[in-house]
Amino acid sequence: MTDACLFCRIVSGEIKGTIVFRDDQATAFRDINPVAPTHILIVPNKHIESVSALERGDEQLIGYLFTVASQLAKSEGITKGGYRLITNTGSDAGQTVFHIHMHLIGGQRMKHPMG
Ligand code: AMP
Ligand code: ZN
Repeated sequence: MTDACLFCRIVSGEIKGTIVFRDDQATAFRDINPVAPTHILIVPNKHIESVSALERGDEQLIGYLFTVASQLAKSEGITKGGYRLITNTGSDAGQTVFHIHMHLIGGQRMKHPMG
């Protein structure tokens, strides 16, 4: 938990988010500025800044984020149509919140270019 970190504060409940999943390892909540009908952010409860800060031992936790994404895609009804999972890393990629997160985006045909 980092006091200054927005997503740590959403995980702890100090700042309200539209939580769609929560357990002892991960939390998922709706993005405040959605780019598609489904736009959910999936974060580990543990504060990790970005992919660049990952260490040996984080593999299980990061892999688990994909499992949560898969379950949420099912409950959102977007599995058949498909969806995109994005983890922006660093400023060139447009990362704005430095608590590692996976965007789960779906519910429409993607138009957004990859670079
Ligand atoms: P990124 O640009 O990859 O770091 O993604 C950060 C995301 O967090 C953006 O899509 C923002 O819209 C989203 N965001 C910022 N503040 C909040 C908030 N309070 N609750 C939910 N999502 C947020
Ligand atoms: Zn954090």
